[in-house]
Amino acid sequence: MDIEFSPEDLAFRDEVRAFIAENYPKELRGKQDEGDELSKEDFLSWHKVLAKKGWVAPAWPVEYGGTGWTVTQRFIWSEETARADCIRLMPFGLTMVGPVIYTFGTPEQKAHFLPRILSGEDWWCQGYSEPGAGSDLANLRTRAVRDGDHYVINGQKTWTTMAQHADWGFFLCRTDPDAKAQEGISFILVDMKSPGIEVRPIITLGGEHEVNEVFLEDVRVPVANRVFEENKGWTCAKFLLAHERVGIAGVAASKRGIERIRQIAATELDGDKALLANPFFRRKVAELEMDLTALEFTELRTLAGEAAGKGPGPESSALKIKGSEIQQRLTELTLEMAGHYGAPYFRGFGEGDNEHPIGPGAWANRAAPTYFNARKTTIYGGSNEIQRNIIAKMVLGL
Ligand SMILES: Cc1cc2nc3c(=O)[nH]c(=O)nc-3n(C[C@H](O)[C@H](O)[C@H](O)COP(=O)(O)OP(=O)(O)OC[C@H]3O[C@@H](n4cnc5c(N)ncnc54)[C@H](O)[C@@H]3O)c2cc1C
Repeated sequence: MDIEFSPEDLAFRDEVRAFIAENYPKELRGKQDEGDELSKEDFLSWHKVLAKKGWVAPAWPVEYGGTGWTVTQRFIWSEETARADCIRLMPFGLTMVGPVIYTFGTPEQKAHFLPRILSGEDWWCQGYSEPGAGSDLANLRTRAVRDGDHYVINGQKTWTTMAQHADWGFFLCRTDPDAKAQEGISFILVDMKSPGIEVRPIITLGGEHEVNEVFLEDVRVPVANRVFEENKGWTCAKFLLAHERVGIAGVAASKRGIERIRQIAATELDGDKALLANPFFRRKVAELEMDLTALEFTELRTLAGEAAGKGPGPESSALKIKGSEIQQRLTELTLEMAGHYGAPYFRGFGEGDNEHPIGPGAWANRAAPTYFNARKTTIYGGSNEIQRNIIAKMVLGL
């Protein structure tokens, strides 16, 4: 989609491009394109460059460390970082708990946690889901019981992304077992180094260690770490989920993904012609591109609403559904391009394996694990079926 930018916006775009060209860590270049697994250090190296520049949390209010960019500038930023294949930043601090803390937190919580999220000093994880409470999140059973000026927490969380690296976690805990499900929950910040916390890995289909189970046994947490009122944590939880879903749409990254598919398909052969010359394949790429353009317009409307002071509402559910489906279709096309070179590989099958790709390149060897990994996109952040329920209720009034 061609958007006409003002001269000021074009100057901003040039500034962003120059900054990325000069400052994006050399060791990260190409890693994402090749589907490499990224380490904690990888994530933090780009985070820290941006923190130093003051660009790590463009959406935050300026008083808490945001950039004060206009909606167009934020759009340019996400386009340019995706275009340059910059790795995404971990969302748990920046786009999840950060906004909850500056919206609902005490002055002390803001002063302590927000600068540490910006600097990358604290790595956060999200303790919402439980074995018996995923879609039906309000059914959660992890208990926090008051004991003087502490809560004592017992329970189990699951699917906790990157908890193996986490310094802090934001946990939904039941503080009133007698109240209606949504009314007895509190939003509590937990130091992941506290005694009584055990993080156990879950290895996913593609061979990655990305998610975990987290067990909490008699974990003592100061009451001062509760955000907002006791038993009113559901308000924070819903606010956070709406922010999470907008980010999940990943429009700019998907645009980069299509460009990458086009590049590969222009050189990979299908018989004696380029794959992109195959009308069946070209049609699939074109259909994907059209759907992505439609999604981009929807995202721009949401951003314009935000600029006018409207927080993300039920439209974030539509963005999540379409964005996640497109991400999956991108990995399906990549796997199709890889053909049998994508078949036998497993992420992390050997140190330095990217240096010795088999077939057309490392991207093909990574195609299967990346495809398997992307099955998550229609599940996490609230499954797409649940998003359809939200649209039916909130948008269609059914
Ligand atoms: C890779 C990955 C990372 C994740 N990271 C985190 C994390 O960091 N922190 C965290 O707290 N959680 C995380 N999650 C958990 C995620 O939010 C849940 O998996 C999701 O909400 C679905 O819950 P569930 O797995 O319990 O499935 P269930 O709720 O058991 O759902 C099973 C199936 O039934 C369908 N279904 C359920 N209820 C309805 C309904 N009412 N109407 C129609 N269909 C329905 C669902 O759509 C799904 O297809 C992660 C999940 C994945 C896959």
